[in-house]
Amino acid sequence: MDAIIDLRSDTVTRPTAAMRKAMAEAEVGDDVLGEDPTIKRLEERTAELLGKEAALFAPTGTMANQLAIGLHTRPGDELLCDPTSHVYVWEGGGIARLWGVTTRTVAPASKNLDGPDFDGLIRPDDCHYVRTRLVTLENTLNRRGGAVHAPAAVERIGTWAHSHKLAFHCDGARFLNAAVALGLPAAQLASPFDTVSICFSKGLGAPVGSALAGSKEAIAQAHRLRKVLGGGMRQAGVLAAAALHALEHHVDRLAEDHENAQILARAVAETPGLKLEFGPPETNLIWIVVEPRLGTAAAIAATLREQGVLVSALGPQVLRACTHLDVSKPQIERAAQTVRRLAKA
Ligand SMILES: *Cc1c(COP(=O)(O)O)cnc(C)c1O
Repeated sequence: MDAIIDLRSDTVTRPTAAMRKAMAEAEVGDDVLGEDPTIKRLEERTAELLGKEAALFAPTGTMANQLAIGLHTRPGDELLCDPTSHVYVWEGGGIARLWGVTTRTVAPASKNLDGPDFDGLIRPDDCHYVRTRLVTLENTLNRRGGAVHAPAAVERIGTWAHSHKLAFHCDGARFLNAAVALGLPAAQLASPFDTVSICFSKGLGAPVGSALAGSKEAIAQAHRLRKVLGGGMRQAGVLAAAALHALEHHVDRLAEDHENAQILARAVAETPGLKLEFGPPETNLIWIVVEPRLGTAAAIAATLREQGVLVSALGPQVLRACTHLDVSKPQIERAAQTVRRLAKA
């Protein structure tokens, strides 16, 4: 396992021995009947962590986000989000397909979205127009290099949304990366939002699982919608046990992933023909532009693969590398060496 350094995604982690033990020992019951004590504990713990009244376990982050969109909107409504958002680009058009909701993308004037980017975007209350109903924000923002939204900007957007009676949802697949990077409590970062989704299956290292947190009322509605989408699970406490273990043991260590990302990013920045798309990483994602003189992203990914380093080619000239629980510091140093050798080859 040590020979291959898999930086394609932070979803590639395998459950640790301690996590598997927690899973094996989990107390379980039928969660559709409300009888799984481990899922209940995870939901309570997640709600507490995010400073919300309630939380709901979901099989995937996509489902958790779609539940939020479904509960905040009705067909014919409109949601506002960054054009690179996972909810808009990577969820199979679920916004339209599942909920009959249209999307208006809002590109940030500077680096990340801020309150003023939304000025004037509310459609007039007139029968010609859709009803603008929801703002979603992704934190950290994958397609902008894992950038962390500044808390003050998030508050300004939230204030704007709420002043226009819009709901405010956070796609927090990597929300705890943001909290660790800022050194702030997750609950504080979550406070401007009505609902927040988080993923246990990314940097936290659980094999499966996400959660949606919000008010009791919102989560009761999400619970209904989860059943509609076929997301009601039975003795899934074995999965919740992995997530609980991750919350207990794998949150603070996200800082190591962020440090490792810096090591790899330095190698990229110092390699002629490669460039950091968004500058030094703030969290665990390194987006890399490959200059055509070095070849295509796919060709570079193939060369790295031959040397045991896996990265994702996510555009003709764009690569992404992610640091995570299953990449040690010596491994990232080896990956950095491999990248540096590219220019010489
Ligand atoms: C991974 C991810 C999700 C959810 O993905 P699933 O694979 O459905 O768990 C949502 N948002 C972002 C930004 C992600 O990176």
